[in-house]
Amino acid sequence: MNKLKYIRVSIASVFFVVIGLFFLDFLDILPLQLHSILHIQWIPALLYGNVLIILFLLLLSLLFGRIFCSTVCPLGIFQDILIRVENLLLKKKKRKLRYKYRNPSNILRYSILLVTLATYVFGFSALLVWLDPYSNFGRIVSNIFRPAVIWINNLLAGTMNAVGVYSVFEVPINTVSLLGVVASALFLALLVIMTVYGGRLYCNTICPVGTGLGLLSRFSLFKVRIDKSVCTSCGLCAMVCKSECIDSKVKEIDESRCISCYNCLDSCKKGGLQFQYVPLFSKSERSGSPAPAYTISRSLWSISGIAKATTCSRSTSAGLLTRCWRRCHIWKR
Ligand code: SF4
Ligand code: SF4
Ligand code: SF4
Repeated sequence: MNKLKYIRVSIASVFFVVIGLFFLDFLDILPLQLHSILHIQWIPALLYGNVLIILFLLLLSLLFGRIFCSTVCPLGIFQDILIRVENLLLKKKKRKLRYKYRNPSNILRYSILLVTLATYVFGFSALLVWLDPYSNFGRIVSNIFRPAVIWINNLLAGTMNAVGVYSVFEVPINTVSLLGVVASALFLALLVIMTVYGGRLYCNTICPVGTGLGLLSRFSLFKVRIDKSVCTSCGLCAMVCKSECIDSKVKEIDESRCISCYNCLDSCKKGGLQFQYVPLFSKSERSGSPAPAYTISRSLWSISGIAKATTCSRSTSAGLLTRCWRRCHIWKR
């Protein structure tokens, strides 16, 4: 696992566990302070006018694109878990051929975003609430998983009480309505079908937050890019992209659908995929022309290279042409 993916998975695990436990907590034992981490969500922040969180999420998106979708959003992480489970069930060969580039459903996703925004502006917020990923995750956990956990707890309590142990006690399952359960089950079924059919398809066709972030991520400063000068269009990277947004034929990534999961970074045997700094006002680099030398590792290398360059210049001025001098990309810029 590459370092970026490792960091991404670690952060996502923390968010998912905390948010999941919050919705599952039928005994109300979690501290109220946990609410602060739960509020780092787009729609709740917009609805409650939480300017600080909105600015933080904006900054995050302008730096790293849709990283919110792969680290903070519980519904997105839940889809990643579904994908993992599906991968475990699939045979190795089928798993390898799991994804391929899919054309964007632009009319559908932008229409949903526009209608959601328009209805909200005209005072009808129900659509926004029903499409809010955080609320949808909350409804699934509260209406389906939480009753299941309470049922297991009651089963355990009954068994333990029968043998004289009373540390676990029964809790009534009276907080869910039939309508809530049916609606959540239908949404969960839709999510599972879409995930099995096309990975993060829900995120790239229906979710208005994802579509909005896709627009923002076009301006993000750090993103995954294909180095066209080494790419052979083999398509290996497209097979691991759960957003199905890598078009290996034209050697481009649809950054509006890339959720910054970094799964693809290890897939290229030619080193053709890089997480790069892309300057905001550089037209050629933003249009995906042959790769500039702005990877993070290279930038750090450049800084560390100042010391090396000083040593090199001393050697060369003394008439010493070292092997590293010929290979050093600092001089080749
Ligand atoms: S697109 Fe929506 S549901 Fe998917 S991860 Fe992003 S915010 Fe969550
Ligand atoms: S794996 Fe590498 S060479 Fe193959 S299509 Fe992707 S970037 Fe190009
Ligand atoms: S392009 Fe790479 S980082 Fe972006 S979604 Fe696809 S696999 Fe993840």
